[in-house]
Amino acid sequence: MILKTKLNVELTEEERLYIFRKCGQLGINMEGIRVWRNKGLSWNGAVACFSLLHPNELFICNDQKSMPHLLPYIAHEYIHRAQFKSMGFLRYCFCAFPLWRKWTLEKEAYAFEDKVRDILMS
Ligand SMILES: [Zn+2]
Repeated sequence: MILKTKLNVELTEEERLYIFRKCGQLGINMEGIRVWRNKGLSWNGAVACFSLLHPNELFICNDQKSMPHLLPYIAHEYIHRAQFKSMGFLRYCFCAFPLWRKWTLEKEAYAFEDKVRDILMS
């Protein structure tokens, strides 16, 4: 997915602090990661996105205003970033091929997303 960075919207300071604090509690190290709201995600129905073209940035849908709702999706994309960091560009691209992506990349990301959702609801 190609993200148009001109569609990025800055988080409010309150949102930024919320993500940083909550992710810290969940064991997600957000150091060096910048989170943007992106208007393009609203159009294509995605809630959050990691782009290997912008590996130090995570994008969340601009229409979803509730931060507690967005956290599990941020956790999901955080896993994709961690996968990218450990695999490197070429291996990640190979693993991202649609035929097997479900097993190579998504299984771990959805497991962590579900875990975070469970923790937040408990
Ligand atoms: Zn995913």
